[in-house]
Amino acid sequence: MMNENLQIRTYKKTGHIEVICGSMFSGKTEELIRRIRRAEIAKVRVKVFKPKIDNRYSEFSIVSHNETSFPSEIIDNAEEILEKSFDTEVIGIDEAQFFENNLVDVCQMLADSGKRVIVAGLDQDYRAKPFEPMPQLLAVAEYITKIHAVCMICGAPANRTQRVTESSDRVLVGGGNHYEARCRLHHTFTKEEK
Ligand code: ADP
Ligand code: MG
Repeated sequence: MMNENLQIRTYKKTGHIEVICGSMFSGKTEELIRRIRRAEIAKVRVKVFKPKIDNRYSEFSIVSHNETSFPSEIIDNAEEILEKSFDTEVIGIDEAQFFENNLVDVCQMLADSGKRVIVAGLDQDYRAKPFEPMPQLLAVAEYITKIHAVCMICGAPANRTQRVTESSDRVLVGGGNHYEARCRLHHTFTKEEK
């Protein structure tokens, strides 16, 4: 009995990293919002952050493609999360692929200090290449959830993001106007992009 109590207490103090990954439209933001709302129901202090680059729908919220939203703070550098989440127990981070690699150290520090860190992001860019710092985050996370969208060509589970406009910049912020979800079979890119 004594031991059990001890375990519960230890568990409660231990932080961890959860990663939610997948292609565009796979429901990463939706899933992040679901988890954050559940934490709120549990009366836990939560805060959500997103990178400055992602001002597609709102400056002050993360917004999913099905229009659910949750208030968030826009930040330039992942280090700002450390200063801003001193008294926060659960930290959500959306669009993790737009942060620099120091996001990994920041998440590790937060988890080391006993916080629950939930990170959502694209695991591949539009050429299906791993999108840093997601691979590094996936390696160190305690829990990983990979979700799928629906392929816009055949309806199969989609693991990739097809760019449907001309541009070879790795980062081209946009939604349904620039991208669609595709399965492995229907995802294409030109030779130069390989
Ligand atoms: P992500 O953050 O992964 O881009 P969102 O959570 O913003 O995804 O959006 C998920 C929602 O997008 C779905 O619930 C659905 O309403 C919508 N959606 C649009 N296109 C697709 C698609 N091809 N596959 C799945 N969901 C799609
Ligand atoms: Mg999203």
